[in-house]
Amino acid sequence: MYITLKNINKIYPNGFHAVHNFNLEIEKGEFVVFVGPSGCGKSTTLRMIAGLENISSGEFLINGVRANEKGPREREVAMVFQSYALYPQMTVFDNIAFGLTLQGVDEDVIEERVRKTAQILGLTDYLDRLPRALSGGQRQRVAIGRALIRKVGIFLMDEPLSNLDAKQRVTMRSEIAQIHQETGATTIYVTHDQTEAMTLADRIVVMKDGYVQQVGTPYELYFKPVNVFVAGFIGEPPMNFVRGTVENGCIPFGEQKIRLAEFRPDLAAAEGKEIVFGFRPEAASLTEQENAARIDCQVELTEMLGDNTNVYILSGEQRAILKVDSHDTPETDEPLTFWIPKDSMYFFDGETETVL
Ligand code: ATP
Repeated sequence: MYITLKNINKIYPNGFHAVHNFNLEIEKGEFVVFVGPSGCGKSTTLRMIAGLENISSGEFLINGVRANEKGPREREVAMVFQSYALYPQMTVFDNIAFGLTLQGVDEDVIEERVRKTAQILGLTDYLDRLPRALSGGQRQRVAIGRALIRKVGIFLMDEPLSNLDAKQRVTMRSEIAQIHQETGATTIYVTHDQTEAMTLADRIVVMKDGYVQQVGTPYELYFKPVNVFVAGFIGEPPMNFVRGTVENGCIPFGEQKIRLAEFRPDLAAAEGKEIVFGFRPEAASLTEQENAARIDCQVELTEMLGDNTNVYILSGEQRAILKVDSHDTPETDEPLTFWIPKDSMYFFDGETETVL
């Protein structure tokens, strides 16, 4: 294994326990994304990997060798930060070349590597410019170039796209994916944006309150979330949740019932147990389905987004969002019937919130 994090903990000097028992193994060439809400400990973990923050306990290995005590340079990591931290008085060329210049690398070699890096990043025409004459996206590419040129084994990125506008973010996102494909560099990428995580990652680590919630491929996280948090975090609009107690083998959905015997016989006998029932907005069908729960509701609001429409519904006291083809947009304030296919139903323990 290329990188190993074993039971890593971070306790800040003020006593705050920011990261709890973090375990992860990363293979060479993998693109791993740490995702989670603000304050969940993703930057702290990345900074411990970078050697910018000491590891309170646990073991960090690179190529099987303990690296806890190694400084950032010895770890062969390059980091791209949220703020680009470019030198304003230096040209793009000099900014990219800076690390190599410091190391006293031969000028010919620098020239060749800067040109190659600039080519990968589409910066060839900008090498003589100063950072202030670049767009946000171009500046971020220079920052990436500065990290790339060092040809280190591990590439770390902390919210590298957060200073860009929405359009630039989408463009840079695909560029980062392309750069990764070309360089094959092992990458650990921090973001709070689930779309970035889903589109870039080979594997995603979902964190909350300093704890890893789930590690998996984008597919696994979307289709097999281990708990309510992950289920609600991945997907837009998020998964709908209906909390209820099993009564006569059924759980309530507004004033209606979902018969567990039909969909999850193993849960039907759990009389009195609190369950969280979940279904994704895009799983709802407006045409009758076999092996599906039928729900009658009232349309409160619709949002036409182009190819699809978000439909906000109310059934009894229960609210939910359905995502339907925009050609099927229903009328507001009218009754609506939809079906939730058995295959798209999720059940979580009401107490522990883990999947059942
Ligand atoms: P964000 O997306 O907001 O950057 P994050 O998931 O990267 O969030 P971290 O920056 O890792 O979160 O912070 C994790 C927790 O540790 C936060 O609650 C933060 O307040 C706390 N923290 C960070 N640095 C320190 C510090 N030097 N001393 C004490 N607590 C800290």
